Amino acid sequence: MDGTGWKRFRLREKKSEAEGVKSFIFESAETPMYFLPGQHVIIRFPDLEGDQRGKMRHFSISTSPLEGKYIGITTTIEPSDSPFKMKLDSLGKGEEVDVFGAIGKFIFEPGLWKERIVVLVAGGIGITPFRSMIKYALSMNGNFRIRLLYSGKTSNSLVFRNELDGLATGDSRLKIFYTVTGEPEGSGNLHRGRVDQEFIRANVEELDNAIFYICGPPRMVEEETRVIVLGLGVDRSRIRTEQFLGY
Ligand SMILES: Cc1cc2nc3c(=O)[nH]c(=O)nc-3n(C[C@H](O)[C@H](O)[C@H](O)COP(=O)(O)OP(=O)(O)OC[C@H]3O[C@@H](n4cnc5c(N)ncnc54)[C@H](O)[C@@H]3O)c2cc1C
Repeated sequence: MDGTGWKRFRLREKKSEAEGVKSFIFESAETPMYFLPGQHVIIRFPDLEGDQRGKMRHFSISTSPLEGKYIGITTTIEPSDSPFKMKLDSLGKGEEVDVFGAIGKFIFEPGLWKERIVVLVAGGIGITPFRSMIKYALSMNGNFRIRLLYSGKTSNSLVFRNELDGLATGDSRLKIFYTVTGEPEGSGNLHRGRVDQEFIRANVEELDNAIFYICGPPRMVEEETRVIVLGLGVDRSRIRTEQFLGY
């Protein structure tokens, strides 16, 4: 650490997760980083030039604190990407980045979740903090029920799908409801359309006892918050949000 809260981490593994989405698993080059499920980090390339959005980006940690001394981030990688993303994707095993964190209050709270229906609403890459929260929460004995409502453009773009399905098969506290927005009717067996009032009512029991976590691009988070507050009459105090600025 350099005295300012930044630490050096080295790339341990890079893996493809879904169409145009990769995870980057880092290992501390110094002391481990402690974090709560749902928190995020800032990644910096001090020598990066020519990126209009600068040398840093925020990323939710997609790994669980129980997955050892590693932190993983998961992001979209496309051919038209920013210099930042190109640099990230070009990292070789053992190469170092600066990491700040962990920060943020969008977290798993055992006391709050107890005896509740916890509705996690993910839009696209907004699934990342939920993987961490779900993996961690299911390792505990709490009597909460998680309802993950996950929308993506296509079925191939749904990140962590096999893994999440496996977790739901192994633990009845987790139920997952997918919906896709960019596939024509009849081209698969997933629900079509956005996470709207009807979709929530159909899949979430006991709305009066529910707390909501919403994560994804800012416009999606704002839209979902409106649906849940105005459409379902849920008080804002029962809603937590994380906006992925930059999308
Ligand atoms: C708390 C928090 C947590 C986050 N967690 C995650 C996460 O887990 N995963 C994740 O992927 N992202 C996350 N983000 C968003 C992340 O920080 C980046 O903003 C995002 O990945 C976009 O990266 P990029 O700017 O390199 O753009 P790219 O990924 O290269 O592009 C994204 C989009 O922006 C457009 N674009 C690119 N550059 C510009 C520009 N200069 N001006 C205008 N439009 C442009 C592209 O055409 C594309 O549509 C998080 C953000 C916050 C605040």
